[in-house]
Amino acid sequence: DLCGRSSLDYERQPYRRCGRSGLLLPAVSLGLWHNFGEGKPLESQRAILHKAFDLGITHFDIADRYGPPVGAAESAFGRLFPKSLRDEVVVTTKGYNPMWDGPYGYGGSRKHLLATLDRSLARLGLDYVDIFYLHRDGEETPLEEQVATLDHMVRTGRALYVGVSNFSPERTAQAARLLRSLGTPLLVHQPPYSMLNRQIEDALLGVLEEEGIGCVVYSPLAQGLLTDRYLNGIPADSRAAEGRFLTPDRVTPEVLAFVRALSELASSRGQTVAQLALAWALRDPRITSVLVGASSPEQLEANVAAVDRLDFTDDELAAIDRAAKE
Ligand code: NDP
Repeated sequence: DLCGRSSLDYERQPYRRCGRSGLLLPAVSLGLWHNFGEGKPLESQRAILHKAFDLGITHFDIADRYGPPVGAAESAFGRLFPKSLRDEVVVTTKGYNPMWDGPYGYGGSRKHLLATLDRSLARLGLDYVDIFYLHRDGEETPLEEQVATLDHMVRTGRALYVGVSNFSPERTAQAARLLRSLGTPLLVHQPPYSMLNRQIEDALLGVLEEEGIGCVVYSPLAQGLLTDRYLNGIPADSRAAEGRFLTPDRVTPEVLAFVRALSELASSRGQTVAQLALAWALRDPRITSVLVGASSPEQLEANVAAVDRLDFTDDELAAIDRAAKE
């Protein structure tokens, strides 16, 4: 179902190089963690995906577990994605987290990772994913086994590129070296990053720059906290009301005061708080792309508009740092 579409719209946003690779990714990408599971109407899922095509989003971030139930987001994408657009998009998946019962249903073993990727490909209806990620560091498995499995995925055509997510700076550097010795580059790291979680600034970004690894960041809106969503209470249709991954206790008076302080700065730049938060995460050229979630096409459209104002003055950045400390 192309809805009359033969291509994507490529004028809306910039594409950035992923580390020192040949791959370009859009500044704003869509993640399917939420909003593509059971209980979300197919029509709303379709509308969000079609909006993404309109916004030049060529990069869809998925994982085997996304749902609920596990696998549902991949099945939804497989059903809704027009296969004629295959060469115009980058589709990712991940492995490590529990998927089925028994000792091979989770973890960093070659046994689990190859099986979970093959099941992902079947759900997605694809021959290969563009990027396969280790979803987290399966420290109980030797790193050599984990990266050899990534290399094997590339060599057998199941994945074009590989990445890691939630790895420490030290283990990222180690994984990059091991992979390089096998002849497969580590394309990308996927850590969390937002004004409320700046941990990657300590050491990880330095490692990524040195190794030429791209950085695709998740939860740049802190799951919705860095928006106007919670300024007047917790709306019934919000992620905090759902309470599975963002619990209501995270909507603290301190967070709300920070968002109110940001509102002024945002409006002086002609932006919403969400747009300010995304532009801020993109201010560092080492950040390849921000992965946003969207529960409606309107949210997605508003978020991509962050790219209309990506420049910051030193005063603006200092004001954000000050507000964060208060
Ligand atoms: P965000 O921080 O962008 O949060 C998205 C949520 O914020 C939306 O679902 C919506 O919540 C709210 N929101 C978005 N835009 C707006 C807006 N303009 N105005 C008001 N509210 C808004 O990212 P996610 O936490 O969803 O993560 C993004 C992606 O990152 C995931 O889909 C996944 O692909 C990836 N990820 C990877 C992880 C990993 O371990 N590798 C972990 C987590 C995420 P509401 O539903 O309330 O409307």
